[in-house]
Amino acid sequence: MSENPMRVCVYPGSFDPFTVGHHDVLEHAVAMFDLVYVSVLNNGMKHPVFSVDERVDMIQRMVDLEGIQKVVVSHFDGLLVEYARSVGASCIIRGLRATMDFEYEFQINALNRHLAPDVDTVYFMASPEHSFLSSSAIREIGVLGGSIQGLVPESIENIIAERLRKS
Ligand code: ADP
Repeated sequence: MSENPMRVCVYPGSFDPFTVGHHDVLEHAVAMFDLVYVSVLNNGMKHPVFSVDERVDMIQRMVDLEGIQKVVVSHFDGLLVEYARSVGASCIIRGLRATMDFEYEFQINALNRHLAPDVDTVYFMASPEHSFLSSSAIREIGVLGGSIQGLVPESIENIIAERLRKS
């Protein structure tokens, strides 16, 4: 484990866009850690709808408007474990929805542990009411002009809806 006396973690993701499921995981991470990096993965998706800058700005806006403390919004590319080490994080945070995330996370965890045995991954189970929710579902609904109310944080719902309608 890291020598850093502060409990620092990185919550990485595509966040294209950030959903209430992501928000739920973030709340749990904030309650457990001294500092949480919400970090947008730069090279994660081939054709994201939102640019990395848009995603970072959107999440920062939500953090500011909701007054969420102990969060740094950032982006990164390259190896996640290297990024975690570079910001002094001893933990990675991921969310698990039913079984659909498990096999992927199981494999990534094994690789990360091989690369960086000192960096642990902590998993939060999705709340039952969010276990069906994905960024891709929101993109599909939003692009078709459907309501995304209740699926994304209220503080950024309008920007996400407007941006999806235009794409
Ligand atoms: P990635 O492309 O890295 O999987 P995502 O933005 O899809 O990025 O998700 C980031 C993290 O949040 C992942 O660990 C994912 O399993 C988790 N997650 C996604 N949707 C939900 C949800 N509805 N509830 C809880 N966790 C979720």
